[in-house]
Amino acid sequence: MRLILLGPPGVGKGTQAQRLKDHYSIVHLSTGDILRAEIAAGSELGKHAQTFMDEGELVPDDILLEMMNQRLQQPDCREGYLLDGFPRTIPQAEGLTNLLQALDQSLDAVVALTADREELIRRLLLRGKTSGRTDDNLAVIRQRLDVYQTQTQPLVDYYQRTGLLVEVNGIGDIPEITERIIQAIEALC
Ligand code: AMP
Repeated sequence: MRLILLGPPGVGKGTQAQRLKDHYSIVHLSTGDILRAEIAAGSELGKHAQTFMDEGELVPDDILLEMMNQRLQQPDCREGYLLDGFPRTIPQAEGLTNLLQALDQSLDAVVALTADREELIRRLLLRGKTSGRTDDNLAVIRQRLDVYQTQTQPLVDYYQRTGLLVEVNGIGDIPEITERIIQAIEALC
């Protein structure tokens, strides 16, 4: 099973990804987590990425594509994977399409989770109290949501055209949302 989890910051992609990876026995690849690990390790990539992340801006597409090109070829991706936070722009989505072609792989579904802006801000501010993430503060949260609207939202149309998109309401109990996602995927596959 190869899945993309799409949706704005705070919609619950990370939480749902943890549950879906267990359900489908696949690896969870969060580009945000990978970049934060690079920052913690003090790598060149991490140093470069941090300046964008602290501002709530996206890290350049070529960096993300190279990073994911390498990651998707690791042995643990053979049985499938769940992409969380990637792709985030049309060039990234096109790059992923090319990469999958080269690997002779195809996606099974793209799950778009939805919630309104006020709810997202409320959740991210709450998360900021315990996450230790420097980008979970009001000014950067607003910027990240704006970036999502302009750069990532167009992916909903992009994947709609492939027939792989399922939209799922991201408001409700965590297990209930997981159930909605699984049912939407089963209905599609
Ligand atoms: P996240 O943990 O998914 O909220 O990502 C945190 C930050 O990492 C984002 O605000 C971006 O600066 C950066 N980031 C994560 N994934 C990507 C991506 N696919 N493209 C560009 N930047 C990304």
